[in-house]
Amino acid sequence: MKKLLAMIMVLALAMTAAAVAETLKMGCSADFPPYEYYDDETGDVTGLDVEIADAVCKLLGYDGVEVVDMAFDSVITAVTSGKVDFGMSGMTVTEDRKLSVDFTVPYQTAVQAVLILKEGSSLTSADDLFAEGASHKVGVQNGTTGDLYATDDLETPGLATMERYTKYSDGVVALMNGKIDCMILDDQVAYAFAAENEQLAVLDTDYWTEEYACCFPLGSELGAQFSDALQTLIDDGTVAAIIEKYIPAEEAA
Ligand code: GLN
Repeated sequence: MKKLLAMIMVLALAMTAAAVAETLKMGCSADFPPYEYYDDETGDVTGLDVEIADAVCKLLGYDGVEVVDMAFDSVITAVTSGKVDFGMSGMTVTEDRKLSVDFTVPYQTAVQAVLILKEGSSLTSADDLFAEGASHKVGVQNGTTGDLYATDDLETPGLATMERYTKYSDGVVALMNGKIDCMILDDQVAYAFAAENEQLAVLDTDYWTEEYACCFPLGSELGAQFSDALQTLIDDGTVAAIIEKYIPAEEAA
């Protein structure tokens, strides 16, 4: 019954939206492959977040999604100020963020990983970061969960010094130049950077597990509809098929 009601609501919204056929604006930081990144050939932002968002928008009767690229730590403000309709940027659901935005149902899980130089790294396992007397230089993207965890678990107890970058690409350059010992970031993104650059390797961790969802202004009606439509596409396998296209099962951690 609840499902039927949700479907009817999705359809009703689809009909309203179809009358004004338009796009929804999605705020993201397009430096996060395979979720959102610039396609070298087309110059457009593509990725699994973009495809899932596009499918949800179409189910709701919109023409599709329009991507607005920005720094990751600006996404929530862009959502709350109405600069974009929603945020979708491999964004982890956290209690703190829930004070500013509403999250949809989650569509993906992730784990934080450690990106290092393949040759000559001072780290041989992620646990080295926590060893007594450790003093690594850790890079993160500003305002991400990698930043939050590393700040609490490494910087505050005096186990590391940290560099915070606006874009991951700047952190990767710093890593290549030996300015930092590692980057802490979401696992599939670390694998994507390592696949593009043979000087890089990934150390797996099994801590800092998280879930990704899209965010909307608090109390947003559209957010509730979007969440229902996303759940419909999770239930019918559309989301899994898009994820599989970007993260083939044999590669997934
Ligand atoms: N999942 C992490 C977070 O939400 C990183 C997201 C990102 O850098 N795009 O903080």
